[in-house]
Amino acid sequence: MAKHKTPMLDKLESGPWPSFVSDIKQEAAARAKNEKGIDYQIPADCPDDLLGVLELSYEEGETHWKHGGIVGVFGYGGGVIGRYCDQPEKFPGVAHFHTMRINQPSGKYYTTKYLRELCAIWELRGSGLTNMHGSTGDIVFLGTTTPQLEEVFYELTHNLNTDLGGSGSNLRTPACCLGQSRCEFACYDTQTACTTLTKDYQDELHRPAFPYKFKFKFDGCPNGCVASIARSDFSVIGTWRDKIRIDHKAVAAYVGGELAPNAGAYAGRDWGKFDIQKEVVDRCPSDCMSWDGKKLTINDKECVRCMHCLNVMPRALRIGNDRGASILCGAKAPILDGAQMASLLIPFIKVQEPFDELKELIEGIWDWWMEEGKNRERLGELMKRQGFQRLLEATGVKADARMVSEPRTNPYIFWKAEDVPGGWERDINEFRKRHLR
Ligand code: SF4
Ligand code: SF4
Repeated sequence: MAKHKTPMLDKLESGPWPSFVSDIKQEAAARAKNEKGIDYQIPADCPDDLLGVLELSYEEGETHWKHGGIVGVFGYGGGVIGRYCDQPEKFPGVAHFHTMRINQPSGKYYTTKYLRELCAIWELRGSGLTNMHGSTGDIVFLGTTTPQLEEVFYELTHNLNTDLGGSGSNLRTPACCLGQSRCEFACYDTQTACTTLTKDYQDELHRPAFPYKFKFKFDGCPNGCVASIARSDFSVIGTWRDKIRIDHKAVAAYVGGELAPNAGAYAGRDWGKFDIQKEVVDRCPSDCMSWDGKKLTINDKECVRCMHCLNVMPRALRIGNDRGASILCGAKAPILDGAQMASLLIPFIKVQEPFDELKELIEGIWDWWMEEGKNRERLGELMKRQGFQRLLEATGVKADARMVSEPRTNPYIFWKAEDVPGGWERDINEFRKRHLR
């Protein structure tokens, strides 16, 4: 029997989609029965009280969570997000309800044994509710009390060889796609890059010393399965600088209907005969493909690596052989100054162990941002405030036409007078003479 009436939450269970309300109710019911005989270390009715406090928030149109001070584990400045309820008498089960971020394995591979062990820790010492995975990429343990934090941390680090992730003004848990472990589009080893940088930057991950959060994300190709271009301050996106490899026989097999386009992903519906002209060539954003009825040709110089043609015909078109990555900086979600996509810093770089070139760039950026960044200013905001040129100076990268995001309206690169032979004044006078009579 539910402890609180939750008519508004109950409505969220209707409709075709899975509902978090049903999940919480399921955990509440399991705890009420306790068939496994677990000696719960936090109030067993916390999922019930969680539903109750959420219903109250919906009724009143305001949150009942408050920040009540910093909580964490000894020696770490991040990884735990303190949550306290402002109605502890009514909802004692969630009086403290701290979230723990756990560093996910690169590519998010698990054994079932490991998952069971994680769940066993959390059933005993937390609410039993998890979020797999949070938007940063971490495994998120939702809701425990302050005395349980060290206990959970001990179990994770000593028995599961796992660490806490980042939170606050520090390096957030780096994230990557599964890359070369399963995907033929991967242009570099995302998992090794992610794991290496996570281990090398432990101090930055656990001891907040930055103006605000900083995220690295590693996408193996421009399909962007971890959306690094939209969500990370330092985005590494796999690419190639030679040609897309074409298997003409396989192209003919797609055209002839022997191979299913999009790897058969839309096979459940009759889309009609595959039309390479309409479905591939005409959809190329840079208009660099042509099909003469027999042969597919690509003008690779104009290809912008959108991945469309490779996704439609993966058996016929393959990424080039000269592989590496593009580096983009400054993406962020809309918290302060609106959402921002990352800007291109390096068009192509080889991404190889021990990743020294990447680290040199990252550390140059950190030095500038830590010196100049205001409190709670993301890298992307500093880039906007001081200009892209300052990022180039901080990283020692030369300006390149490919960095220009919007020609004419926002050239994004500011030249110094001494960079222009003869001085820019001469050029502006020349321009005036010609055009402003
Ligand atoms: Fe594959 Fe590219 Fe997705 Fe990585 S980002 S999993 S390489 S499609
Ligand atoms: Fe055109 Fe995109 Fe294919 Fe490049 S990857 S050839 S831009 S469709």
